[in-house]
Amino acid sequence: MNKAKRAAVIAGNWKMNKTPAEAKALLEEIIPLVADAKCEVVACVPYVDLQIALETAAGTNVKIGAENVHWAEKGAFTGEISAPMLVAMGVPYVIIGHSERRSYFGETDETVAQRVRAAIDAGLKVILCVGEYLEQRKEGVTMEIVRKQVKVALGGVSAEELKNIIIAYEPVWAIGTGLTATDDQAAEVNHAIRELLAELYSREVADATTIQYGGSMNAANAEGLLSKEDVDGGLIGGASLKPADFAAIVKAASK
Ligand code: PEP
Repeated sequence: MNKAKRAAVIAGNWKMNKTPAEAKALLEEIIPLVADAKCEVVACVPYVDLQIALETAAGTNVKIGAENVHWAEKGAFTGEISAPMLVAMGVPYVIIGHSERRSYFGETDETVAQRVRAAIDAGLKVILCVGEYLEQRKEGVTMEIVRKQVKVALGGVSAEELKNIIIAYEPVWAIGTGLTATDDQAAEVNHAIRELLAELYSREVADATTIQYGGSMNAANAEGLLSKEDVDGGLIGGASLKPADFAAIVKAASK
């Protein structure tokens, strides 16, 4: 089974939720519940929570990530955070290209690619988000859209560098809406992404790359989605703020 060739990763995306004190409390609830996970567990938190999250998760199996990163190393970019800054703090993961960044903050495939480049150069592990809008799915162009997003974001990324990239397929219509892609819809797009990686790199590289699904994954639907051959984990928004639900998803990925 090819699934055995790659790591299953369950990552929470806390979005703009939790003060530092609340983040500490939430992580303290999550950590014991996922201590025996047989998959990688990540919590991506707001910038202001990174320090306390790193301290709270130190010595546990929960890794910490940021939710975005700028492409420049430093300079006149008021309000932004660079990849070397995250690395200096000891942050291992970063989400790039989340649909909320694309929809509300003008993120494009090109700026996503620049951020990926900066993150990889600095030594971060990237969770690269791609996915189509509902109108695009209805128009039947999902695969074209997702293929372009992946292709542009990975432009210039070598096979060696790809080892530090997880791709998260997140249909925009399923994020925070309670609408989930069916197991087969998720599997179909994840499979297409893997085939694209085989074209761009090689079969071996494609089989070794972790491809998550994200979009209203929860305790009830995780097992079905994660049972699919090409679904190697999940990027979890709402349910990552609920310790029991997040732990149930981690458990489903640990089977
Ligand atoms: C996300 O924020 O990446 C996400 C998938 O959110 P939700 O699980 O709430 O749909």
